[in-house]
Amino acid sequence: MKKILYVASEANPYAASGGLGDVMGALPVTLAKDNPEFEVSVILPLYGGMKEEYRKKLVKVADIKFRYSWRNTGASVYKIENGTVTYYFLENHYYFDRKKLYGEYDDAERFAFFSMAVVEFMIQTGYTPDILHANDWQSALVVIYLKTKYFVCDAVKDIKTVYTIHNIEYQGKFDPFILGDVFALDGYSNVVEYNGCINLMKGALTVSDYVTTVSPNYAYELHHDFFAFGLADIVNQIGAKFAGVINGIDYNYFSPETGGDIYAPYSLENLKEGKRENKLALQRELGLDECADVPLVVMITRLASQKGIDLVARIIDELLMENMQFVILGTGDEDYENMFRELEVRHKNVRALIKFDRVISKKMYAAADMFLMPSKSEPCGLAQMISCSYGTVPVVRAVGGLYDTIRPYGEDNSNGFSFDNYNAHELLFTVKRALSLYNDKAEWDALVLRAKNSDFSWTNSASKYISIYNKILQW
Ligand code: ADP
Repeated sequence: MKKILYVASEANPYAASGGLGDVMGALPVTLAKDNPEFEVSVILPLYGGMKEEYRKKLVKVADIKFRYSWRNTGASVYKIENGTVTYYFLENHYYFDRKKLYGEYDDAERFAFFSMAVVEFMIQTGYTPDILHANDWQSALVVIYLKTKYFVCDAVKDIKTVYTIHNIEYQGKFDPFILGDVFALDGYSNVVEYNGCINLMKGALTVSDYVTTVSPNYAYELHHDFFAFGLADIVNQIGAKFAGVINGIDYNYFSPETGGDIYAPYSLENLKEGKRENKLALQRELGLDECADVPLVVMITRLASQKGIDLVARIIDELLMENMQFVILGTGDEDYENMFRELEVRHKNVRALIKFDRVISKKMYAAADMFLMPSKSEPCGLAQMISCSYGTVPVVRAVGGLYDTIRPYGEDNSNGFSFDNYNAHELLFTVKRALSLYNDKAEWDALVLRAKNSDFSWTNSASKYISIYNKILQW
């Protein structure tokens, strides 16, 4: 039986702040279910904020002690058996009993500690996976340690490594001054230094046996400076061991039939009536005019410039001259939050929900007719796939994974609308085209049905990862 160990800084439902948590919650589970010849585990930090319902399931496995740079330190290892997948948690109160997962002044040290603890966990407990799959900058160091400091260690030297870029914008860049003290990498500056600073993602890209990112189109885009945030040269160098594998979504959680949280569950059989009922209920809850025939356009997003909020800002007043309602759910940059708060004051058909709220997000996916996602860049994007699952038509910019998942109206088997350039008026005209199709009931209903029937399950993606694992196991 081959063993795979995923290393990540978050995994649903134990700790999550974004897309990485969703992926680590779903991919290992699907992969283990569909491929019983692989034994699958995930390892992550044990954060102070872990919910009690999970905390009480923790079973202690071991205490490990090790020297990290000049510190004599250690961690307690716990596990939760979740069906076919074992989740391991590394506990160190000093580093991980914090309110937030990231954004602390000492993140570099916290995740260097975590990464070394993962390697020491393998050595000290005798757990040696055949494949170690690390994710994003927070676990880049695991791969780097395996291929540098620990390369002489028999227990771990044969482990094959895969590294996944979930978002190249966050590379883990730090002052070279802390190379020895914080990263314990004295003598290995050639591996991690790039353009005058320590760049953990660069290090992992160069030393991993294989590198993936979360959609084929994003993999293509990362060869170019505009998308690669300074790493295009490195991506070009590793082209032969680099591929894009699209993420899937969790159809149990994001199901209008059985996923819960919405006003009235519905399925393919009563799609139209179900969506209508949810729309009227959301309009009532938010104090909007209760009218099933007015198109309801929503956004659910981090309020960050990557998400194309500038385009929305530029054209939203003109768009709102159309007969429509607009609801946005999001948190993030204060300027954007205030912009939408102010928009709500000026327009009676707008609601700005400036908060993070999974329950209301599902109600919005269910109630809406259209879902806007005009991203500037988008590694994969989950929201457009979730919106399809609820029979809500995505209107997206054809970038990154949005290009791979949404086929624009007019093409065969279309499931949404898209525009090519990062241009506010292309967004405006595309939404207007969608609004005008909304009045052609037969065409619109057929499009909604095709969106709902899109298949973004993890099964396909998991089998692509299996092919990669099998390939590198031969090397
Ligand atoms: P990213 O990971 O870049 O934020 P994705 O589209 O990959 O974008 O994933 C976003 C996920 O977070 C989706 O599940 C979306 O519904 C959810 N989400 C974003 N903002 C909010 C919010 N304010 N409240 C609830 N869920 C949100």
